[in-house]
Amino acid sequence: MVKMLESGSSCVDNIFKNMSDLDFDSNADLARYSTMKLACRAPLAIAKTIQAVQQFVQLCSKTNTKYKVLGWGANQLLVDGAEFIYLHLEFPFDSSVLDSVKSEYVFPASVSLAKLTSHAAKFGIKGWEVFTGIPASVGGAIFMNAGTNLGEIGSVVTKVGIVQTDGSIREEKITKDSFSYRHNKFCRPGEVIVWVEMTHQGLDEAVSSQIRDYLRLRNDSQPLNRPTCGCMYKNYDFDGMTCRAGLSLDIMGLKGLSFGGVRVSQKHANFMENTDNATRDDVLSLARIVSSELKLSLGLEFELEVDTGDRPF
Ligand SMILES: Cc1cc2nc3c(=O)[nH]c(=O)nc-3n(C[C@H](O)[C@H](O)[C@H](O)COP(=O)(O)OP(=O)(O)OC[C@H]3O[C@@H](n4cnc5c(N)ncnc54)[C@H](O)[C@@H]3O)c2cc1C
Repeated sequence: MVKMLESGSSCVDNIFKNMSDLDFDSNADLARYSTMKLACRAPLAIAKTIQAVQQFVQLCSKTNTKYKVLGWGANQLLVDGAEFIYLHLEFPFDSSVLDSVKSEYVFPASVSLAKLTSHAAKFGIKGWEVFTGIPASVGGAIFMNAGTNLGEIGSVVTKVGIVQTDGSIREEKITKDSFSYRHNKFCRPGEVIVWVEMTHQGLDEAVSSQIRDYLRLRNDSQPLNRPTCGCMYKNYDFDGMTCRAGLSLDIMGLKGLSFGGVRVSQKHANFMENTDNATRDDVLSLARIVSSELKLSLGLEFELEVDTGDRPF
């Protein structure tokens, strides 16, 4: 009986290895699954179909095995030697869907947001400019309600397919209350977003140049050619006004501050760059130093935007 097995045992590993549509490696090199390229080896399961995700979560629940979903690793610090399994999705995608304009689209959660941005730029899909330049899987972007100065992805999502922890699928209808800033309110611990239905606000020729201009702006202001995990801290409210975390860090002169192999970017103070084989501990140590400076100088406590990876399900 699977129930009798202990998680982490070679017996359980063998069951994962023998599951159909799932690749399992108990000691995978995960650096390439993280945009910050932090050194990390940990168990990795790559699900090729929704059914594989359903079977995976069922088995994890029966064997009390912990796991964490890993999209493009653009906003999480991967835990070296993790005692849980990273679940990555690599579903098939027929990109001919993007050859013409539709009123509604259904995408597998593993599709890259960049593909959708290219489609939006090509046809002038209004509403999709909001996620210009964000490195992400669609599932990760929706989980985070990723967004830019132009808006948030939540505004163009209509329905989401979710594998629940018992392996069944729930269709979540999206309403105006489904998201808040960099947060979704419908995905419970352990649940996996597997598909997404998206709409748009019609066609507008101006969208193409808006996307081009915004990509240029990002390129000029963010360290896009360095290994980072995007913004470390969320923007914050001060007296009813939204204040930019990066600007506050810049004003405090924190650009260039470093610890171990990680440094506060000279280009954008809310980014930390892996400059020399940085580890997750380096990033967390530098984040602690920055936070205590913020507390001392401004009396403010910033909330981390990046997922520090310490809460597997
Ligand atoms: C250079 C750079 C620029 C960036 N700019 C922006 C920006 O402008 N705006 C912005 O919002 N973000 C930005 N980010 C951060 C990042 O791109 C977003 O947070 C993105 O949504 C992360 O997607 P991901 O697929 O990489 O998810 P991951 O980082 O792998 O995961 C993020 C979280 O989502 C969960 N998750 C991922 N996929 C699923 C799923 N299918 N089901 C359930 N849970 C899931 C993970 O467990 C984790 O908790 C930037 C990052 C970089 C490196």
